[in-house]
Amino acid sequence: MAINKRNLSVEDKQRLDSLKNNLEQARDSFLGYPVSKDFDYSELTPFLQFPINNLGDPFEDGTWKVQTHAMEKEVVSFFAKLFRAQPKDFWGYVTNGGSESNLYGLYLAREIYPKGMVYYSESTHYSVRKNIHLLNIPSIVIRSQENGEIDYEDFENTLRMNRHKPAIVLTTFGTTMKEAKDDVSRIKTIMRNLAVQDHYIHCDAALSGTYGAFMEPRVPFDFKDGADSISISGHKFVGSPIPCGVIITKRGNRDRISKSISYIGSLDTTITGSRNGHSPLFLWYALKQLGVEGLKARYLHGLEVAEYCKAKLNEIGVEAWSNPGSLTVVIPSTPEQVKQKWQLATEGETSHIICMPNVTKEQIDEFVYDLETCEQPQEEDFEFEI
Ligand SMILES: *Cc1c(COP(=O)(O)O)cnc(C)c1O
Repeated sequence: MAINKRNLSVEDKQRLDSLKNNLEQARDSFLGYPVSKDFDYSELTPFLQFPINNLGDPFEDGTWKVQTHAMEKEVVSFFAKLFRAQPKDFWGYVTNGGSESNLYGLYLAREIYPKGMVYYSESTHYSVRKNIHLLNIPSIVIRSQENGEIDYEDFENTLRMNRHKPAIVLTTFGTTMKEAKDDVSRIKTIMRNLAVQDHYIHCDAALSGTYGAFMEPRVPFDFKDGADSISISGHKFVGSPIPCGVIITKRGNRDRISKSISYIGSLDTTITGSRNGHSPLFLWYALKQLGVEGLKARYLHGLEVAEYCKAKLNEIGVEAWSNPGSLTVVIPSTPEQVKQKWQLATEGETSHIICMPNVTKEQIDEFVYDLETCEQPQEEDFEFEI
């Protein structure tokens, strides 16, 4: 079958072995990124034999049949229901990640309001700035509060000055550094009070959307609260060997941009042409195993570990805190060796631990021990030569 294919040389096999070892080590010691690693998709291994490609709109029949559109639709429906979309007015697809989902939300918004202005807060994910640049939409940055949430007063004042333009608001449900959540209902009320009728809210829920429905107290973020589209990442809370995400929007929004393409016998409604057909299968499998109850249990477990982490750090005098209901524990930036070992994302003076469901109390203990016993870097003495 294989034409002109050789077996790997001994050296090349060794390279694969050492790559595997390195990946194992790196996987087992990170606390700083919101990625679950407790998945087991081995039952799906046979599907690596197929050139699966989900090109075209998952909700339309196409000519190409080596696809997993049926599972993709179920994944979209699962989240549409969780996010309280109108049962007859939702649509979406599995993307390459939260960034593409954000691009899609902003793309829809621009097609609906070509003269719109985008508002987003300082704490917004870096993908949003890039996407706004790609789409060439005018935008304004709104201040963030100390906890990372959008400053509603600054938003209101800025919107007032631009109220003649349609407003496209990019809210974040779980900011990257502090896992703060912008309140979609409050944003909506501000727009209503200023009589801004043409508006679109895209909620970037890449990090926290998957467990947003289980938070108590709830922070408004979903379709019923006023969102027009919502992004989530699939490889974060659920976990997947391939990065992926989901975009959920209203069907009516999609209908405004769809074009029929005879070559694929489907509608060209997605950003990329060929699309990963394995990741919808992974997500479908995980959601079948977990269900809503399983997702909730995962969230509550993560929350318990986050509370434990905060308490342990406070005990040794580290000022650790978290936004209510968050799995992210915010800490001051740590010495370099701790940062390297635990792969801690750091921005200025701030760093964080993200208690994804696979993080254990033992790992937290080890981390706290490392922090307690590491050598603090000496302040550099400046010598002035005059
Ligand atoms: C992770 C993240 C993204 C980007 O998602 P990717 O899946 O990495 O593309 C966007 N927004 C927020 C808030 C995120 O946490």
